[in-house]
Amino acid sequence: MMTAMGIMRRPAASGLLQKALLPSVSGHSRHRSHRSLSTNSNPKDTTARPKRLLALAIETSCDDTCVAVIEKYGGSARILLNTKITSDNRKFGGVEPITTIESHTAEIGHLVESALRSLPEADPGADRTEVLSFREPHPVTRRQPDIICVTRGPGMMANLGIGLTMAKGLSVAWQVPLVAVHHMQAHALTPRLVSAINQPWPSEATEGGTTKESTLLPQAAAPARNALDTPLQPAFPFLSLLVSGGHTQLLLSRSITSHSILAESHNAAIGDMLDKCARAILPPSLLDQAQDIMYGAQLEAFAFPGTQDQTTTTPYDYGYWYTPPARRADEIRPYVSPTHGWSLTPPLSERRDMTFDFSGLSGQVRALTQKNPAMGYPERRELARQAMRLAFEHLASRVLFALDSISSSTAKEEGATTPTTLVVAGGVASNRFLRHVLRAVLDARGHAGLAVSCPPAALCTDNAAMIGWAGAEMYEAGWRSSLRVRPIRKWSMDGEEGGDGGGGIMGVDGWLPVGGEDR
Ligand code: AMP
Ligand code: ZN
Repeated sequence: MMTAMGIMRRPAASGLLQKALLPSVSGHSRHRSHRSLSTNSNPKDTTARPKRLLALAIETSCDDTCVAVIEKYGGSARILLNTKITSDNRKFGGVEPITTIESHTAEIGHLVESALRSLPEADPGADRTEVLSFREPHPVTRRQPDIICVTRGPGMMANLGIGLTMAKGLSVAWQVPLVAVHHMQAHALTPRLVSAINQPWPSEATEGGTTKESTLLPQAAAPARNALDTPLQPAFPFLSLLVSGGHTQLLLSRSITSHSILAESHNAAIGDMLDKCARAILPPSLLDQAQDIMYGAQLEAFAFPGTQDQTTTTPYDYGYWYTPPARRADEIRPYVSPTHGWSLTPPLSERRDMTFDFSGLSGQVRALTQKNPAMGYPERRELARQAMRLAFEHLASRVLFALDSISSSTAKEEGATTPTTLVVAGGVASNRFLRHVLRAVLDARGHAGLAVSCPPAALCTDNAAMIGWAGAEMYEAGWRSSLRVRPIRKWSMDGEEGGDGGGGIMGVDGWLPVGGEDR
């Protein structure tokens, strides 16, 4: 969960898309604009064979202290460790800043220490400056990470600062590059990490190495073939629906560093809305048993009891219950409860602007439960299902508007590439009903060919593996961070690749070319 990002005025999608869908400018010419930062720039050599890149990653932007060790090797990756400790904010019913800071401060040291024990053992002949020696529990040398990745923003300043300072300490101590990344960029790139861990790890096919298991994500069974050159999926350009506790954004990503925000929420994020709906709808006895403040997950479990086991291979059959709206007119029709008479009006039903609005829906839900505190279970369940349906169809409506604009702008622009994948990431993307609604709506409205790519639940909610991956992709694109970088509370992803005046990922200070000096 994150604090909300700044509000940006957004024109209709079509103007943005015409520019955004044209073929990408090569990374080399873009990088040149940043060479003034250094006397010794070293832009990416695209002809070089991929190298193994071992990343230790830290994420502390909100209430989770997360540490991971991942390794990228061309189109293949493995997660050696992906751990997190979530601060206990239950008695506050939401994120309480001091509690989260205390928890980060208490936990980060031990988490990093456990990460050191997950580093792969060093080769016997390895350079002594690139290994870490341990005496306990038995003498062993391990590979030192090649890069330290950390979330720089957006998020809560003090929280980000704890992770960033720890990351700088490791970077200085080991003399390895720091890569301070954008949290939402990491969410958007996560399906590429998933595609890479689904590839065989090259050492298994070619070097006979072993793979340790992640604590949060099972490794895919590795077919025996070399995946060094396998292209990552999804390829650019792709669309991303980023749905979390602090953000609701529809993005068009045309490269690692170039993203356009096509639609975003100007008030409550969808995760925040679902959390509020859960607190209004769930019977107090269930709320009291909550293990954490992921109330949105509890709302899903209450609405569809069969979905509680995320590991089941048989998805809950929503089909018997859910019929996608065949036309816009169907999705903007108010829902009237056949048994109880109350109604819910879909968000922004009269408008077509590229905005998400969830505050009205949570207000309607709270008003209904306040009016009838003795509401029984079946009625509460109906309310939970309908509130989620309307929220998810609202998300789908802006995806459909964007796809309409894309097909008209690509028809006009020679050489423009159409996205073939919709990434759905962020905590709310673990909601199975959301995935079902998006797929069903896209199929019903002429977009059966658009793939929907959702990471597994452990990689949807905040985690450090995604930070390690985003850092590795940035590093391989030729970028690292200055030791002077500070946390950034609000940081829009909307911007051009070159950065200068263009905002976005590269529009902040502190990016250095790999190999460049840090003054
Ligand atoms: P994030 O900000 O990415 O860490 O995501 C946290 C948000 O995701 C919170 O608002 C949670 O309630 C929400 N969330 C997590 N799991 C689910 C789920 N299964 N259904 C709906 N919302 C969820
Ligand atoms: Zn997040």
